[in-house]
Amino acid sequence: MSGGNGRKITPLATGRGTSGGTLQDVLDRLSVPGELWHPDGGPGDVRCVACGHRCLLRDGRRGICRVRYNDGGILKVPHGYVAALQCDPIEKKPFFHVLPGSDALTFGMLGCDFHCGYCQNWLTSQALRDTSAGAAPKPITAEAIVGLARREGVASLISSYNEPLISVEWAMEIFRLGRPFGLRTGCVSNGNATPEVLDHIRPWTDAFKVDLKAIDERSYRSLGGTLANVLASIRQAHERGFWVEIVTLLVPGFNDCGDAVRRMADAVAAVSPTIPWHVTAFHQDYQMTGPRNTTVEDLVRACETGRDAGLRFVYAGNLPGRVGRWEHTWCPDCGKVLVERFGYTILQRRVTDAGACPDCGSRIPGIWG
Ligand code: SF4
Repeated sequence: MSGGNGRKITPLATGRGTSGGTLQDVLDRLSVPGELWHPDGGPGDVRCVACGHRCLLRDGRRGICRVRYNDGGILKVPHGYVAALQCDPIEKKPFFHVLPGSDALTFGMLGCDFHCGYCQNWLTSQALRDTSAGAAPKPITAEAIVGLARREGVASLISSYNEPLISVEWAMEIFRLGRPFGLRTGCVSNGNATPEVLDHIRPWTDAFKVDLKAIDERSYRSLGGTLANVLASIRQAHERGFWVEIVTLLVPGFNDCGDAVRRMADAVAAVSPTIPWHVTAFHQDYQMTGPRNTTVEDLVRACETGRDAGLRFVYAGNLPGRVGRWEHTWCPDCGKVLVERFGYTILQRRVTDAGACPDCGSRIPGIWG
């Protein structure tokens, strides 16, 4: 069984023009009235509740994400385009406990509510803040995206590459269409959520990946968020029944100082020890070129720390073939290998479609069949 390589797909144009004006003008022409907001403050003011920033916007003002804006007392939100569309192994998201070895049609738009200096998707996420980021929006319908997913034979639809919550109404339009065809759905988020947005997406979303980027408020504020809200969102997503996986990009000197790795592992374990925790290797990117790259030893040490904190599924990412047991899924009860990987490629899958260890029958949490 193989995870395969990512394949870029050219979306079908719908005829809505994108030419003329700035990128912001183009995106505004692609915007429609949103759902996750309500009137608040003075006359014509609106409160957006799509992410933890909860922006209060006067008429004509934009949110921190720069893609949602108050247009005459109505919150306009992104719609009807993608900036990236690709078939990827689902392991690349990474989801390791969701249909291993299957492909996901992954779509992303533009903008983000954070501004992480090490962003590996900065061409899309920072397009509204950084003129050197150049991904262009391509108009497309939800029907065309789901049609592509079916033709490509993927198992899931994933909203990723930028922050899904800032364009969540559009993502849910796609998920709602895809679900009746048996497609699983997921969001790859920074976790700056609200209870309102989690309730909004829950009926149409199976899986929710959250980045836990640091374990102190100062570091989180430097990225544009708060630790408290991300930890609350992880708990709220788990309580609502999403399949949750957590990713920490281990950045030497930024989020691994002192006992920080142990405190991150403890924070995940406090929600549930069965939540998979991926510790992935940083490489110098975008504006963060100061820290050194993460080594194999850093990753393995972090994985051992996660195991010692009681986490039952800990993975090392971005250094395929070099991290020993930490790429694979092991039965936490009998210790046998359940899914053997090399990077995004599945070498062996032994967990049953019902989600059980074939040797001891233990239930393995996740979405397997
Ligand atoms: S999505 Fe977040 S950043 Fe954007 S307008 Fe809404 S609350 Fe503000």
